[in-house]
Amino acid sequence: MLRTHNCGQLTISDTGSQVTLCGWVQRSRDLGGMTFVDLRDRYGITQLVFNMETDAILCENARQLGREYVLMVTGTVTERSSKNPKMSTGDIEVTVLQIHLLNSALTPPFTIEDHTDGGDDLRLKYRYLDLRRNAVRANMELRHQVAQETRRYLDEQQFLEVETPVLIKSTPEGARDFVVPSRMNPGEFYALPQSPQTFKQLLMVAGFDRYFQIVKCFRDEDLRADRQPEFTQIDCEMSFVEQADILQMFEGLIRHLFRKVKQAEIGELPLMTYSDAMKNYGNDKPDLRFDMKFVHAGELLKGKGFKVFDDAEMVAGINVTGGASYTRKQIDELTDFVRRPQLGATGLVYARYHEDGTVKSSVDKFYSGEELTKWTILFNSKPGDLMLVLAGDNTRTTRALSELRLEMGTRLGLRDKNKFAALWVVDFPLLEYNEEAKRFFAMHHPFTSPRPEDQHLLESSPGNVRANAYDMVINGVEVGGGSIRIYDKALQQKMFRILGFSDKEAQEQFGFLMQAFEYGAPPHGGIAFGFDRLCALFGGSDSIRDYIAFPKNNSGRDIMIDSPAAISPQQLDELSISLKK
Ligand code: ASP
Repeated sequence: MLRTHNCGQLTISDTGSQVTLCGWVQRSRDLGGMTFVDLRDRYGITQLVFNMETDAILCENARQLGREYVLMVTGTVTERSSKNPKMSTGDIEVTVLQIHLLNSALTPPFTIEDHTDGGDDLRLKYRYLDLRRNAVRANMELRHQVAQETRRYLDEQQFLEVETPVLIKSTPEGARDFVVPSRMNPGEFYALPQSPQTFKQLLMVAGFDRYFQIVKCFRDEDLRADRQPEFTQIDCEMSFVEQADILQMFEGLIRHLFRKVKQAEIGELPLMTYSDAMKNYGNDKPDLRFDMKFVHAGELLKGKGFKVFDDAEMVAGINVTGGASYTRKQIDELTDFVRRPQLGATGLVYARYHEDGTVKSSVDKFYSGEELTKWTILFNSKPGDLMLVLAGDNTRTTRALSELRLEMGTRLGLRDKNKFAALWVVDFPLLEYNEEAKRFFAMHHPFTSPRPEDQHLLESSPGNVRANAYDMVINGVEVGGGSIRIYDKALQQKMFRILGFSDKEAQEQFGFLMQAFEYGAPPHGGIAFGFDRLCALFGGSDSIRDYIAFPKNNSGRDIMIDSPAAISPQQLDELSISLKK
């Protein structure tokens, strides 16, 4: 090693010893006769001191050092006269005897400090410099810890870590595939896995019993803060299990991670059916850090001459505790919020329950004081509260009210990033009808089994079949999801037919799986967690990008290596590809 210690290591007990450190110049300060240089590495910062009186040449040299120069220095550990309790090395400094300049550096395009002046694009372009910053490095350390603890838990539970191939063919997870042309098979393409779904099922047929993998998945979708074209899953599968076994095993994983990474207890995860989640929160991933359930109010509010309610398929609202003090302006803001094109509500009705017991609504014309008192009972409203009501068709009203609930949660400070509310959502519909395509799609994926008691409805009433599937939701984020799989060829074939695959297409795409099912497939099921999302959740961020060493931007570009990029005519030729002019 070029060094005897790292830059975060030396303490008062090292005083007097001669040490050699390596690192980058964080900053330097000239104070007349003295020059101070902060030397940084992954572990911390150590203050170096140069004295004009004792060694003028060395001090002069130190003054020439620029930011981010790479040094090897040898010197003596000395007690500082003014200590810095905020630094682990704050009690000492190193009086330098010798500097060896290992490398110089250009002036960085942004300051490598906790609060940097670099914008997003600049930091992505020079990601290797951004990664030198404490905050970004700490995110990578957290990611490392989550990965190690995941491996530790699953290893203890006898899971085998198995790698599955990346050059495969289409996996039906519902997104578009990324494809790779095959030079050796002109005109043919691999697809990158949207998940290792079929392979992990084949590993169960192989008798591996408990599999996991921390694995890259690829989905060509529109990007958002919590989506990247390539992302990482903790992918798992188990044999000879029922739903309850999976829930218990992976609740255990999450509990372990919370304990080790956050020193937090998350308690038992409640089970909520999809239909209850939709009815009470308008969302299949409800944020349970706060209550504010939907109040379905059609029965009470219709038939009083207010056309907006009378004509609506759904009339529902929420009670905002302490919200009566909301000003007209604040309520107008909320109205604008639900009217945004993404939500498309036509308006927002409100009723303030004043401290003096009177209720004042925006629709007083249609509802007497007596009627409004009935509202307060239905909404379980207390003096000082505010009732907010939306009306319209089911889908839109549900979505808008769900967003309004979350917005109110945020405004009232009920969505604390250091508080965690986890639950399982179960009993999803197996199939979703798509009006445009005029066919059913698998809500999860085509390998998910129906709940046994609903199986008889598969042909007569497919839309009413519930899936043997589950999602883990934490703080309104789906962190993981999975299902008990079909392991019978005939049922799998039936499923493909319902999903609009001809027998020939099903055979071409998934013949290997159905064939495997004929060689003694065990009952099995599994789950996959969004690893980047879990890291972001533990780190208290909404953006998974902060937890990926080299992420892509919103257009799916890596602006550091400038990819995707054109390829040469020779490469195209080798791949038998001609581009559209
Ligand atoms: N393959 C599924 C997914 O990526 C997870 C699973 O069913 O285990 O969502």
